[in-house]
Amino acid sequence: MDYQVLLYYKYVPIEDPEAFKEEHRALCEEIGLMGRILVAEEGMNGTVSGTIEQTEKYMQVMHEDSRFADMPFKIEASEGHAFKKLKIKVKPEIVNLSLEEDLNPNEKTGKHLSPKEFYEAMQDEDVVILDARNNYEYDLGHFKNAIRPDIEAFRDLPKWVRENFSEYKDKKVLTYCTGGIRCEKFSGFLVEEGFKDVSQLEGGIISYGYDPEVKGRLWDGKMYVFDERISVPVNRTEEATVVGKCCHCGEAEERIVKCGNPECNVHLIMCEDCEHEHKRACSTECQEHPWNRYVKEHEQTTK
Ligand SMILES: [Zn+2]
Ligand SMILES: [Zn+2]
Repeated sequence: MDYQVLLYYKYVPIEDPEAFKEEHRALCEEIGLMGRILVAEEGMNGTVSGTIEQTEKYMQVMHEDSRFADMPFKIEASEGHAFKKLKIKVKPEIVNLSLEEDLNPNEKTGKHLSPKEFYEAMQDEDVVILDARNNYEYDLGHFKNAIRPDIEAFRDLPKWVRENFSEYKDKKVLTYCTGGIRCEKFSGFLVEEGFKDVSQLEGGIISYGYDPEVKGRLWDGKMYVFDERISVPVNRTEEATVVGKCCHCGEAEERIVKCGNPECNVHLIMCEDCEHEHKRACSTECQEHPWNRYVKEHEQTTK
């Protein structure tokens, strides 16, 4: 059967997130969707999967709610459910930038560029392209010439910008993320920080990859996604390349694991041979850690 994955978000006030969550869970269960949904007073953010019929039904019901009447859904084909469960959580924010004072993207955000506009802007000589995602997402794939913030979590990005990116305040800055939600807030932060010309990719890399004109051009490698698929293609032209490299041997690789030491847990690109050799660890310390998961799993299978 054909399945679809829906990605969506909307910054819109939700008065009682707890009550909304319960109602929403009932709706998703009735339809039969799986996925992960965050609800906050500032809005909602979700990725869900289901059959074409189920996902169409969901979009229809959501669009009947005046708060979400214009919510864009990004739709991707999938061979099955992209999630094993349905998880709906209430959080203080749908996107956490750990700012001293939170930003409302409906009041302050960067300019929105369509995929075609973004493609053209990237080719200007005077632009700086800044990836707004985490280091392991970048390492698996990114726009050509984009700058890589060395962060493991989005909440560390403001600090990274203040320490490493302030010199570009007078430049034209282009920023992008997976579906656009992180950039709505992040580009607002850049404006607030005094960056004079900030633009963001509308609909994120996902929309860029599906755009029939640009076809994912200027994207190298794959795109990391936060579901069972792990990564998906973006560049649909012959220029597509592999940029991921095994963190140990340096060979071209696109598989991602988490460090075997549960106390470390960083995302790593690692080939299968090196996973066995290094017990899935990022370092000797993590390899020898008493709780190493690879060691535990391996013991279990040999007993
Ligand atoms: Zn390797
Ligand atoms: Zn480690």
